[in-house]
Amino acid sequence: MDATFDELRARLAEHNDLQAAAALLRWDQATYMPEGGAAARGRQLATLDRLAHDKLTDPALARLLDRVTPAAEREDEASFAARLVRVARRDVERASRVPGAFVAAFAAHRAELYERWTKARPANDFAAIAPLLARTVELSRQYAGCFAPYDHVADPLIDLMDPGVRAAGLRALFAELRAQLVPLVEAITAAPPADVACLRQDFPEADQLAFATAIATKFGYDGARGRQDLTHHPFMTKFSLGDVRITTRVYRDDLSAALFATLHEAGHAMYEQNIDPAFEATPLAEGTSAGLHESQSRLWENQVGRSLAFWRGHYGALQAAFPAQLGDVPLDTFYRAINRVQRSLIRTAADEVTYSLHVILRFDFEVDLLEGKLAVADLPEAWRARMQADLGVRPATDADGCMQDVHWYDGFVGGAFQSYALGNLMSAQFFDAALRAHPDLPDQIEAGEFGPLRRWLGANVHVHGRARSADEIVLAATGRPLSTAPYLDYLRAKYGALYALR
Ligand code: ZN
Repeated sequence: MDATFDELRARLAEHNDLQAAAALLRWDQATYMPEGGAAARGRQLATLDRLAHDKLTDPALARLLDRVTPAAEREDEASFAARLVRVARRDVERASRVPGAFVAAFAAHRAELYERWTKARPANDFAAIAPLLARTVELSRQYAGCFAPYDHVADPLIDLMDPGVRAAGLRALFAELRAQLVPLVEAITAAPPADVACLRQDFPEADQLAFATAIATKFGYDGARGRQDLTHHPFMTKFSLGDVRITTRVYRDDLSAALFATLHEAGHAMYEQNIDPAFEATPLAEGTSAGLHESQSRLWENQVGRSLAFWRGHYGALQAAFPAQLGDVPLDTFYRAINRVQRSLIRTAADEVTYSLHVILRFDFEVDLLEGKLAVADLPEAWRARMQADLGVRPATDADGCMQDVHWYDGFVGGAFQSYALGNLMSAQFFDAALRAHPDLPDQIEAGEFGPLRRWLGANVHVHGRARSADEIVLAATGRPLSTAPYLDYLRAKYGALYALR
């Protein structure tokens, strides 16, 4: 490739840098910014987002892409140049399809609804925001319309988060998953519940953070290329491949919150830290889809962090960190407590078994709302009925029902949730494949040797960034397309033993 290619890279790097600047301001907003900075910060972010959008839709960039495409297409399709040009074209094409006026109108609508939701949710007043949510559904359909023709109106919205994934495929996958999970939850919750009292004692914040950070570091989160700070809603963010940060929250009276949030976000961060360094400052230097990203966080949080093998090797260290609280608590009691399954109302607090049911419910409602099969006014009752059917609980308030998640009140209806369930499925399929490559993985995990698993994930998943799609990565790494079987097998084996199911 030639000077034109270098010019293309320089322009893409400028776009990347504007996005990084916005991400840095968002990180600051969620961690250290004083309340007084809110209004100006909103304006600053809007400016940076607009400049980034302008960079991407600049006709000069499109011309450069056109000029380098023939040469890139002559190269091996797996080459850096071919992958970069393909991904960059896709980003430019997507950004150019949506009129600037729509972007501005949706941003204004979204800000207003979010502001109203922060008040309506605690007041349990769904009626106050229902008209604005109906408008969101309409705007989501309009957004999808920019990408017509499509098979399903949800497809362009799903594609934003999980490129290449379609509503039809998800419906089939999720119907199968739901049909298996509902009876599994019934069987588990018919057994005596786990006692979580050992997690609900007084645990000093600093000691909790020190333990969680030590484990994340042992997993392989590189503190020299990252840092951890406190926030309200934990997240991971990246400013460059050398600066990938995680945030967490800590409660004195709940040992599990900070610990598992840290392991989860560290899983996201290790994905980004292990992307091919040659991709730096290009559109390839990112996780390839939201679902794949979630598979990495869930794998380290659950498949490793909530496993018996891990705690056989690490419970002693936790007891040593909290001798007064856990000194007399047997490993088995602790292990059952961190894996309690219950019929609960809130998605973000849900256990591994019920979690996907919370997600599938939301996905199905997004499809029905976009298709016009479900009216926004009927959403609260539809939600209660579905919770009763799937999880055997009925929320007493809409605050704990259809108003609980921020997603629909701060973004599109459509594509907002499927990634979480896809991540669960992928996490089990990846772990299975890693286990085939390293049959002694559980022993390594017990011994605190996480290098083999981390390197397997690095070589098979992380290194590719966006150069490969999630489907390509799953197929190449596990030898088969994504399916529900590994996840269901994992749940049945683990919880069958925990709850003595037959
Ligand atoms: Zn996550």
